[in-house]
Amino acid sequence: EKVYSRPGEAGCLVSFRPKYDNFIGNQWIAPVRGNYFDNVSPVDGKVFCQCARSTAEDVEVAMEHAYKGWQSWKKTSAQDRAKVLYQIAQVMDENREKLAVAEVWDNGKPIREALLEDIPDAATHFRYFAGAIATQEGFLSEINETLVAYHFHEPLGVVGLIIPWNYPILMASWKLAPAIAAGNCAILKPAEQTPASILVLMELLMEVIPPGVINVINGYGPEVGKPLALHPKVKKIAFTGETATGQEIMKYVADNIIPVTLELGGKSPNIFFEDIMDKDDGLLEKAIEGAMMFLLNQGEVCTCPSRALVQESILERFLERMQRVLNKIRHGDPLNTSTIIGAQVSLEQVQRIKKYIKIGKAEGAKCITISNCKNDSPYQQDPCIFLGNNHMRVFQEEIFGPVLCICTFQDEDDAIQMANDSSYGLAAGVWTRDNIRGYRVSRQLEAGRVWLNCYNEFPAHSAFGGYKKSGFGRECHKIALEHYQQIKNVIVNY
Ligand code: NAD
Repeated sequence: EKVYSRPGEAGCLVSFRPKYDNFIGNQWIAPVRGNYFDNVSPVDGKVFCQCARSTAEDVEVAMEHAYKGWQSWKKTSAQDRAKVLYQIAQVMDENREKLAVAEVWDNGKPIREALLEDIPDAATHFRYFAGAIATQEGFLSEINETLVAYHFHEPLGVVGLIIPWNYPILMASWKLAPAIAAGNCAILKPAEQTPASILVLMELLMEVIPPGVINVINGYGPEVGKPLALHPKVKKIAFTGETATGQEIMKYVADNIIPVTLELGGKSPNIFFEDIMDKDDGLLEKAIEGAMMFLLNQGEVCTCPSRALVQESILERFLERMQRVLNKIRHGDPLNTSTIIGAQVSLEQVQRIKKYIKIGKAEGAKCITISNCKNDSPYQQDPCIFLGNNHMRVFQEEIFGPVLCICTFQDEDDAIQMANDSSYGLAAGVWTRDNIRGYRVSRQLEAGRVWLNCYNEFPAHSAFGGYKKSGFGRECHKIALEHYQQIKNVIVNY
């Protein structure tokens, strides 16, 4: 167990600047209108820095630098771009603890997750896309004796990346890595709740990225995200966030007819078949751990397994096993490496979760457990488990907090029907010792990612994205490169 020092304390690995300008063309550039907003840490509830409150005028400034940077970046070879991505990954690895502390202070997540997953995974993404671009090949079609069609991958230009607050550095990396690997320059708009950790990263990357390749402008969605999406020179928007915001983004990009990828919300079902109870050979334990994933990042995860569908015959035993684990879970200082549940990102988020707990109770969902977590901060929300039916609002709407909704099913068909009875289709889990059934069910689930006998594994070389109102487009696999490229076809008559 280790407790990392807090910003401001002796020995802390991070010192935030009191005031952050935008990071544009490898320089700190003040917002044109001179406005800043307060950034609060959910760890202590206090303002720890101010960040630029950007507007359309700052998008203009960022676009100028990004466009200029692109004139040379687009001419670099794939091998040279790969080199830059490898260097970025190395800087992240070398500064893992520093970045983890910055991420925790900005977002409230437990440092264990940031140290073991978020930061190393982010570095892995840069390394993976370095390899992907270095090995990507064009292709040709032989049409007839004299005609040959060549296909080249070309970058799009300056792309806009708009991200949420739950995994600031990781979400930025999922987008930045393929975007710049493909030869684009990026303007990144972090979420207003977590604007600072990415700037700590940018400070470290200044030495390794050419000017204009990565630009970060902070501020509120409608004030700066919207003009970014509407800018006539932006050639693509990659967005991660709420479904309702995604719908707005789609309308904005229609004006300029540019591609968009949307990674949106979810209400992922986690299906537990009765055969997991047949033996005590480790699968049951893993399945319970899989169910407990609703607590990962305080439930602020797009793939949060927020609906558990449990075969009726095992419900009682399943709950008993869950309760045993839940009893051991404690809230704690997010900077303590033994903490499992940290702080929710904001008081607004806590209010939203509490509102849904009220809604669930009013709908008649049985609140079977509110764990005995030590809870001494207004940013900490006790986990809640509801037993109800799939039609209830708490089973259908994304809560984005530590709330698990459990319902039961009779047989396989029932489970599939219930799992698919959702407007979302981001992810799903299936737990069974019958591999054939696991495969059969996985193929029938309307979800872009299905985990069979595991949950929340995110390898860089595994395509991730949604069905239905969870969006479209894929990240985390070399096919994501194609979302940041266009194909040039040249037909030659020899
Ligand atoms: P959000 O939609 O409120 O905000 C996301 C980003 O969009 C922020 O940067 C915000 O400033 C910006 N934004 C808001 N309004 C805008 C507008 N009108 N124009 C342009 N930009 C605008 O989402 P959030 O609350 O930050 O994040 C939580 C949501 O993100 C959840 O729904 C979660 O499921 C989703 N999410 C999805 C994935 C995925 O991969 N599918 C991953 C993480 C989070």
